Amino acid sequence: MTESSELTRIVVVGASLAGLRASESLRSSGYSGSIRLIGAEDHLPYDRPPLSKKILTGEWEPEQIALRKADSFAEIDVEMLLGVPAVALDTRAHEVGLADGRSVSYDGLIIATGAAPRRLPGQPGYPGIFELRTLDDSLELRAALGEGVRVVVIGAGFIGLEAASSARRLGCRVTVLEGAPAPLIRGLGAEMGRAVATIHAAHDVEIRCDVQVAAIEGSSAGVTGVRLGDGSVVAADVVVVGVGVAPATGWLAGSGLELRDGIVCEASLRAVGMGYVYAAGDCARWPNQLFDEEMRVEHWTNAAEQGALAAANLVREANGEELEAYSAVPFFWSDQYDRRVQFIGRAFLPGEDEADYDIRIVRGTVDEGKFVALYGRRGRLRGVLGLSLPKYVMPFRALLARGASWDEALEFAAGQT
Ligand code: FAD
Repeated sequence: MTESSELTRIVVVGASLAGLRASESLRSSGYSGSIRLIGAEDHLPYDRPPLSKKILTGEWEPEQIALRKADSFAEIDVEMLLGVPAVALDTRAHEVGLADGRSVSYDGLIIATGAAPRRLPGQPGYPGIFELRTLDDSLELRAALGEGVRVVVIGAGFIGLEAASSARRLGCRVTVLEGAPAPLIRGLGAEMGRAVATIHAAHDVEIRCDVQVAAIEGSSAGVTGVRLGDGSVVAADVVVVGVGVAPATGWLAGSGLELRDGIVCEASLRAVGMGYVYAAGDCARWPNQLFDEEMRVEHWTNAAEQGALAAANLVREANGEELEAYSAVPFFWSDQYDRRVQFIGRAFLPGEDEADYDIRIVRGTVDEGKFVALYGRRGRLRGVLGLSLPKYVMPFRALLARGASWDEALEFAAGQT
């Protein structure tokens, strides 16, 4: 980059995956001005997926999930401001206000504040109730788990089911409560959600669907159970609340940024109507041109790719170059017991009915605990789900990217060896 006089101070808010990738990408895009990376947590950037897996089971220790070696931040010349959340943004004065009263000026801003767990209405603060988003959350929960501990997980989404699987590996007695008719319904639909969740029954984890949580019971001495809508109580020593996340954008109120379940961005990840301000990762909402849909995605690959692209586009903007759209096929994985779930694509958008989908297992079977299922709608391939058959899943990413038809996808699956 020929250093633009307009862009010499870049601030990145959110020192995790998207924020780190953005900082690295600024340097690889040739930007040589200052970078300040602001993070609410005390930790250097670390990887979140192991928090519900190998960190929770104790197989890994925190140093194994560092996203970059501590001494290598100097190499990319990034000033870290950790343990201090941003609390305000003034887009006119180009200033980020910090919780300790300082304010940090910027010419360019990248927002990567991710998402924070939702809580249940009236959720009490008794000891033994946990959410699972940060390293500290995971270590605290891990300390409470062990042989014979009664764990109730509220929410049969991916995080809840991963926590259930890890708790089970540690010898806990685990029950999962879900208000919807099937586990994993939001991402996979009812039929495939049930199919994937069969692996839990094989490990003696009971998943109770269609149940409403009325209250979490306990006292200042600790949680004792979860009362259901029918008045019955499921006894618990530990309760894990896994009812989803909301974008961490509260600090942006009054900033002038458009907020609608995330920071509303253009296809390039630039915040709408705001020059030199970008968002990336779990907090960003953008029109994905491949799917003809405005989306916000809460997965690792999306955060890593968006962080890098948002930064590259900020540098492009300063250089007067054309911005690149972020058009990607969403992808995520989840590890439960010895199984790996993968999903690429996008299915069950708001307003879409499962009955309008063609869902077909094209390899393996549910009983084997290994299968690949295609999701089609209106003659087009929309998603691919795999359970422990990774080799057969990823090749479909290219088909999804080019909008392949349902027939083409079936033919491709039949030809896979
Ligand atoms: P985050 O990782 O949420 O980071 C945002 C950072 O910003 C945080 O450090 C936060 O403290 C900080 N922050 C927030 N507000 C402020 C503020 N006001 N000021 C300063 N800093 C702030 N995805 C998969 O694809 N596969 C998986 O198997 C998988 N497993 C997961 C398991 C767990 C337990 C969790 C929590 C997530 C998992 N994910 C998984 C999702 C994946 O980790 C996220 O999509 C990814 O971390 C998003 O990165 P991000 O940088 O956008 O946000």
